[in-house]
Amino acid sequence: MKELHVGIVGAGQLGRMLALAGYPLGVRCLFLDRSAAAPGAQVAPILVGDLTDAGRLAELAAHSDVVTFDWENIPGEALRPLEKMTRIRPPRAALEASQDRVAEKALFAKLKIPVAAHAAIDSKEQLITATRKIGLPGVLKTRRLGYDGKGQFVLRNKAHIDEAWAAIGGMGLVYEEFQAFSREVSIVGARSAAGRTVFYPLSANTHHGGILRYGIAPLANTRFERAARMYMQRVMQALDYIGILAIEFFAVKGRLIANEMAPRVHNSGHWSIEGCVTSQFENHLRAICGMPLGSTRALGHTAMINFLGKMPDRDRLLAIDGLAYHDYGKQARPGRKLGHCTILKKHAKERNMALANALKLIEWS
Ligand code: AMP
Repeated sequence: MKELHVGIVGAGQLGRMLALAGYPLGVRCLFLDRSAAAPGAQVAPILVGDLTDAGRLAELAAHSDVVTFDWENIPGEALRPLEKMTRIRPPRAALEASQDRVAEKALFAKLKIPVAAHAAIDSKEQLITATRKIGLPGVLKTRRLGYDGKGQFVLRNKAHIDEAWAAIGGMGLVYEEFQAFSREVSIVGARSAAGRTVFYPLSANTHHGGILRYGIAPLANTRFERAARMYMQRVMQALDYIGILAIEFFAVKGRLIANEMAPRVHNSGHWSIEGCVTSQFENHLRAICGMPLGSTRALGHTAMINFLGKMPDRDRLLAIDGLAYHDYGKQARPGRKLGHCTILKKHAKERNMALANALKLIEWS
């Protein structure tokens, strides 16, 4: 079979895990990113340049059967010229919809997917009005470029309006009703070029300060599973989607409220590397390269824990039976995602015990 070449804009840990999943399939990845020391560049070749550099992007496209991305904030306009040269998958429309929280919520609402009450905010007066109409508590967020809790402020009472405004006030914000969720849940799925879809079992995710700390999967909840799949199917169809898509939800009073989507492989799907027949990384490559999609069946009960800010003692973690360790090859910095581990067990009870043991060995900073 012909070797396939995939260009990846962004060489972070997601790109790195995509490239690693590509080797057994005969898929060779080439990255574009700013640094030759990026996590992806340690496992596959890289073109060094800005992610919006037209010349570098054209070079990437010229070497690729298909171009994808590991970061959703690449301006759609930068990718547009590449559409004449190669395939861009997932489609640019999905990338653009996910870049703006207000546009994203409008898409969800159009597709009858529940979202939190919200208002676009461009001035302090609008924030004051929104806190009256939507109520307090609420979350003020930047519409664009926010990730892992950055660019967010939780307003618990009126006095927080000034504080929030001083912290992140300006143009291009959104105010959302605070969701008193029982848990956070995400779904990851893939759609092939032929329109076939597969869905991974749900993951239940624990965040702290807006950043994912750990998750367990599969979350056995037939009602949530059915709703999440139906919602994802609607988004995929509306966008003529190809590749892996993730949607994060708040579970509130037995209902799923969509928070945001990511048109790429997702942190809450990392468990699929060891925990499923086919990982999200492999299925993304299969989808964008026009191969048949693989089974998303879970092989047992998993927990995935992020290493944030500081790497743990590897050997102590590896002593836990059924644990797989992933080091992204990054420099440590507070709050930075440096790696993760996945525990795979036959039964949920054993998984919970191993998770508790692993958590004792991990310190987030
Ligand atoms: P986001 O960047 O929108 O994914 O937000 C990061 C995290 O902040 C979420 O996973 C939640 O834990 C928390 N969060 C964000 N928006 C809300 C909300 N409207 N209500 C309650 N918690 C929220």
